[in-house]
Amino acid sequence: MIDVVVIGSGASGVHAAWPLVKAGLQVALVDVGHRDDGAPKPPGPAHFTQLRSTDPDQFRYFLGDDFQGLPFGEVRVGAQLTPPRAYIAKAIADAATRSDDFQAMQSYALGGLAAGWGAAVPPFSDVDLEGWPISRQQLQPHYDAVARRIGICGVSGDDLERWFGPSPHLLPPARQDSNGSWLLDTYQRRANWFHGRGLYAGQPRLALTTRRHAGRGPCRNLDMEFWGDEDRSVYRPVYTLDQLRRQPNFTYLPERHAEVFEEQEGGVAVRVRNLGTGTSERIDAGHLVLACGAIQSGRIAARSLGAEDTPLPLLSNPYTYFPCLLWTRLGQPTRNRRHSLTQVMMYFDPHRRPQQALQAQVYSYRSLLTFKLLKESHLPIGDALRILQHVQSYFIILGVHHPDYPGTSKLMQVRREDGGVDISYRPTISESRRRTKLENELMMVMYRLGCLPLGRVDPGYGSSIHYAGTLPMTEENRPLTTTPQGRLRGTQRVYIADGAAFPTLPSKGLTYTLMANADRVGRQLATSLSL
Ligand SMILES: Cc1cc2nc3c(=O)[nH]c(=O)nc-3n(C[C@H](O)[C@H](O)[C@H](O)COP(=O)(O)OP(=O)(O)OC[C@H]3O[C@@H](n4cnc5c(N)ncnc54)[C@H](O)[C@@H]3O)c2cc1C
Repeated sequence: MIDVVVIGSGASGVHAAWPLVKAGLQVALVDVGHRDDGAPKPPGPAHFTQLRSTDPDQFRYFLGDDFQGLPFGEVRVGAQLTPPRAYIAKAIADAATRSDDFQAMQSYALGGLAAGWGAAVPPFSDVDLEGWPISRQQLQPHYDAVARRIGICGVSGDDLERWFGPSPHLLPPARQDSNGSWLLDTYQRRANWFHGRGLYAGQPRLALTTRRHAGRGPCRNLDMEFWGDEDRSVYRPVYTLDQLRRQPNFTYLPERHAEVFEEQEGGVAVRVRNLGTGTSERIDAGHLVLACGAIQSGRIAARSLGAEDTPLPLLSNPYTYFPCLLWTRLGQPTRNRRHSLTQVMMYFDPHRRPQQALQAQVYSYRSLLTFKLLKESHLPIGDALRILQHVQSYFIILGVHHPDYPGTSKLMQVRREDGGVDISYRPTISESRRRTKLENELMMVMYRLGCLPLGRVDPGYGSSIHYAGTLPMTEENRPLTTTPQGRLRGTQRVYIADGAAFPTLPSKGLTYTLMANADRVGRQLATSLSL
């Protein structure tokens, strides 16, 4: 008999399963679980510049055998996914998600979206959790448990402490690249001036093992994090899944697409489609934990509760990025050894309204390859290429995330005819104006940091790849919501352990909080089942 069936092997699913398995319960994890499709990979641990100058086959992984890594047209969701990682976004034939104004990147991969994520892990503060029925204090032990499990590096006690709160289990910070150190030095020399304008900067928290931790790492600073996982230093949920699979009370059931659940006397029956055989299967368990991404969990819940025609709220951080030239650093030497992830993290709150603060992440551009910037330069290709080759070491990309709150024009709805999802997502005019105004204000301050913005790229709604809010956690007893303990209202034995339960989204990346909350939901369920 299965005590608990968890759906999804992503960041949420594996951390919900962990405490249940540790409590000795029989746990099965159902997953579509697409695997790496065998696309060409970099040949073992080697530095980016070494591969660029020596590997005759480099085009196979950098561009793809069919040159699928060359983006044409507008920048769209998932532009960061390189050819070796393209399988993460592979769709399945069933239950398509459709929208005219929202690009939802859903993953059916083993380990979900975090098989290719950027690993920035800022924790949510009490301000971020305003309107939630749980506090930072309640989440803290779960943040700590996840930090110990996966390895998180960073600095405590710096200017970002006020945004992050205390974090006792940090690994040493990652080595910063030349652009990152230059920016932080410039900021620190005039910190009071920048604070007066609402800007706070520091080293990012990253799910990156800077020293050996849990059998992974240390990070070798090869600048290949967008292309491969050679040193296993960037956390991927599949590592936790591998640990779970070594436990005798855990079973992994891949190639199964969960459709609906039905509660019965003493248990839950989940109907799944076996993608290998094409047949329908039924899985019986005492309890069910949905952790297959906010849109999929909302879809399964609405279908199972006969609420196909009921619109569900949908949240996604609006996202913009700005290619910038660090002009004050032109001509300075550049360190070769670096990681490719976020180098500096910033919070910008010029109007002292922390719920509206934006988060900006600084990346240096090198290993994502300069050709992608050519289109954005608005120059003839030949000229742009020559200029970029000279200045590429001084290029940064500033990725800007805004908070998101529910609204009557940000909705998803399940189609009754085929069980797929329709999404309509339109922020209000005042939300859009606030976003543009804040970004303009930020650019003025960035100029004082020596950054010259060269353009503004808006990849469209949904492009942050942060999705939440479809079955929000609340104290109010309303249908299609989640209790503070994670139970789906209208059910006795079904729990929500992913972003579906987040009632709002601060501008911070949500995944650390997804993992901490999943650990909380799993741990509470384990405790209640052991009583
Ligand atoms: C390029 C990129 C960069 C990112 N960078 C960051 C970052 O720096 N910081 C951050 O906080 N976040 C980042 N994110 C977002 C982050 O990856 C996601 O928030 C997180 O991975 C979501 O985890 P999840 O487990 O809730 O869902 P998912 O990752 O979507 O996992 C869903 C799982 O459920 C399975 N599944 C789905 N539907 C079904 C079904 N019907 N039946 C059975 N199985 C199903 C899938 O196979 C998958 O295993 C990034 C994402 C991308 C793509």
